[in-house]
Amino acid sequence: MAKIIRKARPKSRSAAKPASKKPARKAAAKSGQARKPSKPKPWTSAEVLEAFSRFRKANPEPRGELEHLNPYTLLVAVVLSAQATDAGVNKATRALFAVADTPEKMLELGEEKLRDYIKTVGLYRNKAKNVIALSQKLIAEFGGEVPRTRAEIESLPGAGRKTANVVLNMAFGEHTMAVDTHVFRVGNRTGLAPGNTPLEVELGLEKVIPSEFMRHAHHWLILHGRYTCLARGPRCEACLINDLCRWPEKTV
Ligand code: SF4
Repeated sequence: MAKIIRKARPKSRSAAKPASKKPARKAAAKSGQARKPSKPKPWTSAEVLEAFSRFRKANPEPRGELEHLNPYTLLVAVVLSAQATDAGVNKATRALFAVADTPEKMLELGEEKLRDYIKTVGLYRNKAKNVIALSQKLIAEFGGEVPRTRAEIESLPGAGRKTANVVLNMAFGEHTMAVDTHVFRVGNRTGLAPGNTPLEVELGLEKVIPSEFMRHAHHWLILHGRYTCLARGPRCEACLINDLCRWPEKTV
């Protein structure tokens, strides 16, 4: 019986040389349509001016809600406020600051008694350690005073960039922008300063907000986030800047 020999089929051009499987991403990037996150339309200078003029008109002298008596007690209050509410910190510090409103008095009080005063505040053991350590450092290196530069404040135990920004702004009137959870949310939702990290939002806000508003901008944005642009259920109908806000999910 004759053997049937099957001739190998000539490979089609495309089979012989598979079409280049350029990742779709690359192709899209080439055409300028790479997976860009949809960015909101940037605010114009006139819009930013309008928004902050409205904040200023509604609340010309906004106040921070952390109670303090001087730069030192402000610093301590901010260190204690990490992952805690201002109201919770105030409850603890009212009695504490009545007996210890300077680094020297805090050291006299001692870590154990300090813990008793702040035990209602989250992470209080670690925070008490930091407050004692920062008080020692203030006395040893800064003459018992809160230093006035970001780097120096950040060098204190328990103090990071946000702490430094709050202290520089509230105690010394510097045009800094502390980004907490509220400012981070408002910066992103409104489209004023979108960013993936607090630092990106901070730098973005500093770039767009005119200097004349920077003294109070931090408080306006915190208060806006705390009482109007709530994380869940923002009160867009009562929002001063709802016509300017870029958030696609705003309810007005
Ligand atoms: S309109 Fe709504 S989402 Fe936009 S800033 Fe105001 S409260 Fe926030």
